[in-house]
Amino acid sequence: MSVVPAVMEVPLFCAASAAQGLDLPAVLREVVESQRYILGRHVQVFEEAFAAYVGVPHSIGVANGTDALEIALRALGMGPGRRVLTVANAGFYASTAIRTVGAEPVYAEIDTSTLNLSAEALSEALADQRLDAVVVTHLYGRLANMPAIAPLCRAAGVPLIEDCAQAHGARQAGRLAGAWGDVGCFSFYPTKNLGALGDGGALVTADKALAERMRALRQYGWGAKYEVAHEGGRNSRLDELQAAVLAAKLPLLDAANARRRAIAARYGAAFSHLPLQAPLADGEDDVAHLYVVRSARRDALRAHLASQGIASDVHYPVPDHRQPLLGTTLASLHLPATEAACAQILTLPCFVGMTDQQVGHVIAAVVSFHDGVA
Ligand SMILES: *Cc1c(COP(=O)(O)O)cnc(C)c1O
Repeated sequence: MSVVPAVMEVPLFCAASAAQGLDLPAVLREVVESQRYILGRHVQVFEEAFAAYVGVPHSIGVANGTDALEIALRALGMGPGRRVLTVANAGFYASTAIRTVGAEPVYAEIDTSTLNLSAEALSEALADQRLDAVVVTHLYGRLANMPAIAPLCRAAGVPLIEDCAQAHGARQAGRLAGAWGDVGCFSFYPTKNLGALGDGGALVTADKALAERMRALRQYGWGAKYEVAHEGGRNSRLDELQAAVLAAKLPLLDAANARRRAIAARYGAAFSHLPLQAPLADGEDDVAHLYVVRSARRDALRAHLASQGIASDVHYPVPDHRQPLLGTTLASLHLPATEAACAQILTLPCFVGMTDQQVGHVIAAVVSFHDGVA
């Protein structure tokens, strides 16, 4: 028997690596010493910087990405009796928000090459049923087909919400994720492409009246201080500590996305001859939040990677319409492309602080699985 070599461990994420070179303790100390912890200067500075980055006039910091979706839906008048179209392969986040406001999720199929909302499926749904809003998710960091989707919604008079929680900085023709629809919703969960040291989120919009409603909804529904003017008010504020961290990290975002894309491009080249469906992830429309391959032998591949010290995960294994919460209520709904994808997808490590050796180790393990060397 040969000697077992030391296994190189490769985690799925390293949240801290996108802050390389930043003195975050100093950033935090400055906020602590400012003695203002809620809706002060740091939130305002970050909101202005983030709006400018996305290229829209208004940004509103909130507590997390799920709240951002909920507040956007409420501000657009979604509630009981309203029908909101979305996809069923994006982790139930949009479904949670749609259900929380009392509206009904309507699931549309995905495009099998990008795993994002199919513009054709959207077009058919808009033609043959009443829809009150659309939530499009830029899944895995890849911008959905917005040059087709945005005009379809506009022509139908249906408001469009973008879930940009995985796509900070993704762009096409110079237009960023969040700047295509009526509202863009972001999460700053620590592992996202722009991550805080805890929970955080933001809304972006070009619509001033909508921005004012969303700003009111994040803080008790206040019009003016202590005057409740809006139904559906919440306490969902981004705090000063997180805003200061995010403002410090925002200037590093494009470089961090470029590093993710470089890892994805190396994977893509190495996997091109394998019986795997690998994402393209080489253009500016993809910020490689998650590097997701499709394999007919997904579970065996996953076990092989684990045996080589390589973490992997499935984003997401259970389609929304099959979640246990729903019981059999949507049993008759079949989304073949969505269900097939959920059974075959596997997320490989792709994060900013990943070393070239770690990338090489993942490539070698994926190749050896297919060579049958393992
Ligand atoms: C992370 C995520 C969310 C939720 O964000 P939280 O800040 O965790 O509430 C929503 N949508 C997508 C696509 C996500 O990846």
